[in-house]
Amino acid sequence: MGKTGSTVSSRAKKIHCANCKHCKLTSEAKESGTGYDIKVRCARGQWRKKMGDEKLYRFSTVMRRIVYDCEYYEPMGDEAEFLKELKRTLPVHDDNPGSLSN
Ligand code: SF4
Repeated sequence: MGKTGSTVSSRAKKIHCANCKHCKLTSEAKESGTGYDIKVRCARGQWRKKMGDEKLYRFSTVMRRIVYDCEYYEPMGDEAEFLKELKRTLPVHDDNPGSLSN
């Protein structure tokens, strides 16, 4: 069984969540109460904290959201092309969160 597990993991394909239709933008109120932070979440509930709560990530880190063999992965198109464009337009920092506040 151990050998089977290592064989499966060596064949696992790296999946960029950013190219999955379940990777969604959302906003979260700042702790200061002034404005919002732009975050990303997995709409299929695959991103969890150790205690089981949903884990949200800063939008600027979405390129780092990588999983292997996700049963819910639904690509939005050609991954290489999409990631290339995202990398070009993604903010380096989430330093304009106030744009969602009114
Ligand atoms: S469903 Fe899977 S591939 Fe899609 S965003 Fe969630 S964890 Fe990533």
